Amino acid sequence: MATRFRNVDTALIHAGELEQHVEGALILPIFQSSTFEYTGQTSYADLRYIRLNNTPNHQVLHEKLACLEGAEAALVTGSGMAAISATLLTVLSAGDHLLAQNTLYGGTYDFLTQDFESLGLSFGLIDATSPETWSAHLTPHTKAIYVESVSNPLMQVADLTAVVAFARQHNLVSVVDNTFLTPLFYRPLEEGFDLVIHSATKYLNGHSDLVAGTVAGSSRWIKQINARLMHLGGSLDPHACFLMHRGLKTLALRVRQQHTSALEIAEFLDQHPEVCRVYYPGLTTNPYHQRAAEIFEGYGGMLSFELDGGEEQAKHTLQRLQLATDAPSLGGVESLATRPVTTSHSGLSPEARRQQGITDGLIRFSVGIEAAEDLIDDLKQAIEG
Ligand SMILES: *Cc1c(COP(=O)(O)O)cnc(C)c1O
Repeated sequence: MATRFRNVDTALIHAGELEQHVEGALILPIFQSSTFEYTGQTSYADLRYIRLNNTPNHQVLHEKLACLEGAEAALVTGSGMAAISATLLTVLSAGDHLLAQNTLYGGTYDFLTQDFESLGLSFGLIDATSPETWSAHLTPHTKAIYVESVSNPLMQVADLTAVVAFARQHNLVSVVDNTFLTPLFYRPLEEGFDLVIHSATKYLNGHSDLVAGTVAGSSRWIKQINARLMHLGGSLDPHACFLMHRGLKTLALRVRQQHTSALEIAEFLDQHPEVCRVYYPGLTTNPYHQRAAEIFEGYGGMLSFELDGGEEQAKHTLQRLQLATDAPSLGGVESLATRPVTTSHSGLSPEARRQQGITDGLIRFSVGIEAAEDLIDDLKQAIEG
């Protein structure tokens, strides 16, 4: 966090904002202009053009995000996947090898398994909770290590402290996808990660009305990633920048409530006689609770659970829920519930799902900002109905 803002709540509102209001407008207008007048720039990257990610709507977001992440620099991108692909294609060159967590977000997993080979890249999958197993996967060409702070859908918490130490020991670039926690609950750069990525589609925007991504780190890395992004073309439209900017201002209010409600809901489910498993690192009985309590300032708003009645009861419960919609994606103000086997993890083979422990009856719940009491009542009637 930049010294100017002692508290994240203040930074969310004021960090990065222009010194002067444009025409006195309280809110930064949308600069819906693909190109801008030439003012004597000497390098291509300094010309103002939407694809170059340097209109006023981009720049304000870059400053605000850098402040939130405690980073030298940050970049917004056209999607979370644009941030992930541009980052990995900057950090890695043909011939390089990546160590990646074995429970990756589906899109990231597909990028590795379907595109890496044709790009001359290779990867090895690691259990990010067992540092003692990682060295065996190193090759002379290993260049980077990639993990997620909390995994989807079983809320596994990687040994993030060990990832930073391992990366330093073996001279690897460390990259973490922190989508599930947001900078409010975990700031990986302060813990020694080189780069942090978000799907801003989720909590950072928080209103399920756009697709965007971010990456933050040293100025040197962000400059290189931006250069690659300019060529790949995954820039963010100014209108989407505006929406993300607006959504970001309430991040702290939203995710604190989502965290508090998620804990209450997890406790309710944990006590419910028809629920056989609850995955939420905030529960003291969760195997990752200790680690999460040490390194995170909150456990986030995502949880998942299994019912005694398995797949049939899960389907029935989803149908009966009145408040949460059955839909993929997460992190918005409206609660969503889904069976990952039908949505987020439908691309995995049944075998791969079984290996990860994702059953057909698993329900993933993205807690919105509705009253926790109402969400609990709704879950209760849906499970018992
Ligand atoms: C959704 C998601 C992504 C991909 O983001 P898009 O904005 O959909 O491209 C990446 N990582 C995680 C953890 C996600 O949940």
